[in-house]
Amino acid sequence: MLHDRFFIGNQWTKPATNAHFTIKNASTGETVGLTAEAGTADIDAAVTVARAAFDGGDWSGMAPAERARIMRRFAEELRKRAPQTAEAVSTQNGMPISISGAFEGDVAPNILDYYADLAEEMVLEDVRPSQFGTETFVQRLPVGVVAAIIPWNFPVNLSLVKLGPAMAAGCTMVIKPSPGTVLDSYVMAEAALAAGVPAGVLNWVPADREVGQYLIEHPGIDKVAFTGSTAAGRKIAARCGELLRPVTLELGGKSAAILLEDTDLKTFTQGIPTACLLNNGQTCYLGTRILAPKSRYDEIVDAVAGFVGALKVGDAMDPETHVGPLASEEHRARVERYIEIGKNEGRLVTGGRRPGASQGGWFVEPTVFADVDNTATIAREEIFGPVLSIIPYEGEEQAIEIANDSDFGLGGSVWSKDKAHAKAVAEKVQTGSIGLNGYVISVGSPFGGIKQSGIGREFGPEAMGAYQTYKSIFAMN
Ligand code: NAD
Repeated sequence: MLHDRFFIGNQWTKPATNAHFTIKNASTGETVGLTAEAGTADIDAAVTVARAAFDGGDWSGMAPAERARIMRRFAEELRKRAPQTAEAVSTQNGMPISISGAFEGDVAPNILDYYADLAEEMVLEDVRPSQFGTETFVQRLPVGVVAAIIPWNFPVNLSLVKLGPAMAAGCTMVIKPSPGTVLDSYVMAEAALAAGVPAGVLNWVPADREVGQYLIEHPGIDKVAFTGSTAAGRKIAARCGELLRPVTLELGGKSAAILLEDTDLKTFTQGIPTACLLNNGQTCYLGTRILAPKSRYDEIVDAVAGFVGALKVGDAMDPETHVGPLASEEHRARVERYIEIGKNEGRLVTGGRRPGASQGGWFVEPTVFADVDNTATIAREEIFGPVLSIIPYEGEEQAIEIANDSDFGLGGSVWSKDKAHAKAVAEKVQTGSIGLNGYVISVGSPFGGIKQSGIGREFGPEAMGAYQTYKSIFAMN
């Protein structure tokens, strides 16, 4: 057994049942060990302590500067554990260690520092002129106990981007990691404990989706923060609607990488690993529809196929690996189903198979289809694997039309030697965020989707509002 306890109320708490998850190494398929799986009684226990910690007021009523100090210590403790974090993530979801080391290990704790700064700068009460009385005191208050539901693809970033604003606002939390990445949550819990985060503020209970649903419906929860698939998000949103419970949703995507006529192809191909294929294609905002002008079509197809075909596929723990395995056997089967569909919808120009040396791990070759029409299944549905579709276009207006002809609106990118021109095109793309000659999220700027990619924003000061509520006190004389 790797972990036989849950982190509830700063105690390593014995589970209510013997249920467990089998943890597998995505690169080898081998079983690494077992971890405890929460049931509804464990959720009750976690919500009870989070509720008591919130209602007791020690955390929510703490001076923001003091909360900020604790958050910075938490970030420091996480930094000390960066290699452990990276290894935990890569073992389970196949993220190449070079990526998890940077994004999940080293950089993710900066999110806590960023929101610690915001906590200190936050104006908690302002006095406004009154229409009928003397003045109004407008207060910002923490929203309460937050249920945070985390997916498996970037579990540390996607946890901390909820923990940061929630902690800064004075909320307490019950965090449900995905069964697909459980190990990192123990590293985060150890760091929180070492940092002196008060008991009950953060509680981790890894569970499956049914128990996750129990958590989001729990009467002790005041707000739900969800990141995951559009299908699950829709279900959660419907339930939260019935309960009139605030919910933010960070969902799927099918973004476009628009290559304008003057794209520098070297710049584009070198941007593919982060903008189109990050984490083996298991990233929500990637530009997996590559829109190529007909005037340069063959050249672009050759360059993309050549670059993607030469990427090193291998064990996630190998620092030389560009593309690791997929996160689970079931997920690989899903991605392979899309590749089969793609063979009838486009021209396979590289990849499409399991690499020779894949052994027990859940590998697929990075795959590129050319001559794809935007109505094709592989151009419309989120595959969440290393599969790219190249779609030809004639004229910029058509490129924008194709980019916007999607159920999603999360990320994307525009490529051109002329940045101002690229920006003008980016402004016409219906999406929550977009990159110019690349794509990398930034902690200080809002990130989130429109259409079926979600509701609300994470990152930046914009994320704070989801964890706060307002109270107006009207003074009449
Ligand atoms: P998923 O929807 O299967 O699961 C996400 C999390 O929700 C897991 O913890 C799961 O156990 C839980 N869950 C599922 N149904 C639930 C329910 N009814 N009630 C409570 N909890 C429930 O998604 P996944 O496969 O883990 O993650 C991949 C998906 O996440 C992709 O669609 C991807 O685009 C999306 N994603 C979006 C963002 C973003 O910021 N927009 C970021 C990362 C991933």
